[in-house]
Amino acid sequence: MLLDGKVAIVTGAASLRGIGRATAKAFVAQGARIVVLDLDEAQAQAAAADLGQGHLGLRADVTDRQACVDAVAKVQEQFGQIDILINNAGITQPIKTLDISPANYEAVLDVNLRGTLYMSQAVLPVMRAQRRGSIVCMSSVSAQRGGGIFGGPHYSAAKAGVLGLARAMAREFGPDNVRVNAVTPGLIQTDITAGKLTDAMKVDILKGIPLNRLGDAQDVANVCLFLASDLSSYLTGVTLDVNGGMLI
Ligand code: NAD
Repeated sequence: MLLDGKVAIVTGAASLRGIGRATAKAFVAQGARIVVLDLDEAQAQAAAADLGQGHLGLRADVTDRQACVDAVAKVQEQFGQIDILINNAGITQPIKTLDISPANYEAVLDVNLRGTLYMSQAVLPVMRAQRRGSIVCMSSVSAQRGGGIFGGPHYSAAKAGVLGLARAMAREFGPDNVRVNAVTPGLIQTDITAGKLTDAMKVDILKGIPLNRLGDAQDVANVCLFLASDLSSYLTGVTLDVNGGMLI
């Protein structure tokens, strides 16, 4: 199997219909042990238990540097290795430029961008010492086309920042055999989008998607699996678009 013997941390993996949860499941199917890291301890543990035996659920707010460090220490204590980090935790706010308050800006930049940095900082020393590791950072098509239905301009900025951060870390840690790549999903049906799309909105959106459907979490999970596994052993610093052709 692709991830036999690997240990993967997936942030934001407690959300039932989310990309993180689907990614965790895809990894388990390929032999990995998973650490579900999310804001609520009970939910993180329930999500880990739902994956089967031998997985771990931990509470950590990715915007809290010490919480990230502590969570990684617990993972090391339990498993003694960390092969994969999926920086998936994210939030969005569907507001326009003139409506972005300082608090809006901080919240969205903090979770999406600061969280990606803090979790990466926590695992990179472990991966460097192991001389192996793969980090996948969740960006968004919003970074590339400047906004969308669900993401405000501050979300676009945060997700564009994630792309720069991923490339810089890829360059810095390539010599340590640690790969860092990014994924830019298009419109994926998860809790972020659930119940918010009218039929008229869907028809309109589909006109801009050559594959003529919205994405689902599994579409993104499959690409994360590719980037996390040795199938992508000579890829680092790349961004893979998972958007049904939205940018063609
Ligand atoms: P989701 O809301 O289903 O899942 C996000 C998870 O992140 C939740 O479990 C939440 O509790 C967790 N989280 C939020 N803040 C956190 C924090 N501070 N610390 C730890 N965990 C935190 O969302 P999703 O649609 O599965 O999105 C997953 C990722 O994919 C996000 O980064 C999102 O921006 C990105 N994305 C989603 C779409 C889409 O259409 N759904 C498109 C492009 C990118």
